[in-house]
Amino acid sequence: MMQDHFGRSVSYVRISVTDRCNLRCFYCRSLKDWKFIPHEQILRYEEMIYLINILKEEGVAKIRFTGGEPFARRDFVPFLEELAQAHPELHLHITTNGTLIRDSIHILKDIGISGLNISLDTLRRDRFEKITGRNFYDTVRASIDRAIEAGLRTKINVVALRGVNDDELPDFVRFARDYPVDLRFIEFMPIGGSCPWKAKHYWSATDIKQELAVLTDLVPERAVDRTHGPARMFGLPGGKGRIGVISALSDHFCDECNRLRITSEGKIRPCLFSDQEYPLLPLLRKDERNLAEIRSFLHQVTLNKPMGYTLLQAYRDHHDASVCNRMMSTIGG
Ligand code: SAM
Repeated sequence: MMQDHFGRSVSYVRISVTDRCNLRCFYCRSLKDWKFIPHEQILRYEEMIYLINILKEEGVAKIRFTGGEPFARRDFVPFLEELAQAHPELHLHITTNGTLIRDSIHILKDIGISGLNISLDTLRRDRFEKITGRNFYDTVRASIDRAIEAGLRTKINVVALRGVNDDELPDFVRFARDYPVDLRFIEFMPIGGSCPWKAKHYWSATDIKQELAVLTDLVPERAVDRTHGPARMFGLPGGKGRIGVISALSDHFCDECNRLRITSEGKIRPCLFSDQEYPLLPLLRKDERNLAEIRSFLHQVTLNKPMGYTLLQAYRDHHDASVCNRMMSTIGG
């Protein structure tokens, strides 16, 4: 088991399978940063499988694939099939923009994917294009319908953006009533040197909850420990789905953090908010891999996992500054 200095152990790993994406969400990556990591520097599928075998032996029970857009990477679905077959007991999750998944949904269901998080920041077609730079609203909506029909556990990620999508709160409530999904508002985070984070766009979880309470009764879900997911969820009386908030900035959950992140180029990032990263790729690409060396590296890296909230100082002091330099699109959220 991999444990840090604070006694937190790692049971959940997020892997960014690519930094490439077919959307251009303004909050994720600035337009001037569209230079991609060369293919040869990206973690190969075979390397991921080798690593996941080790992680599983070290007590990791849940893997989330993210990006960039994971489905934009060639052969992502066959890779998942191979992995799911090798490790049926691992909980495999995916975070996706939902634009490229329509034809793969039944495969995902068949191989037992535990959950699909689909990002959708607006329920308005014209606004979707403004936020993402692309006109894929109908495609994403159709993918959500298909995922639900197929019986996949589906969550909707909405980045909460004051002045951009806050006027849609009643529509989001209706959506969560009508569809059996968990719809979660994620606080906009100042991640990435050129992130256009502005205090005026910050819509806090506290404000969201207050504004929701005006629109609907909210039935708090029994507090579960946040190692299962960082959201605070609420039931909607008579509704099919639930609504919730992820308060990464205002009410961090660092004490319960059980994650490691692996960036697209195979660096271990123990904390979302810290640019302290540890290159694993050289060890995986040695002529003769040394299992003991890789294990010891993983343990050492975990030991130094920071308490992320101490790093939010820049944001607290300046309120317009990024917490870290690396862009969200290469970390994967
Ligand atoms: N392409 C996939 C997608 O769109 O979901 C996966 C990658 S994306 C980086 C993962 C999640 O991070 C998405 O839900 C996205 O909305 C969220 N995200 C990106 N930048 C963010 C930011 N600055 N603050 C909060 N959430 C952000």
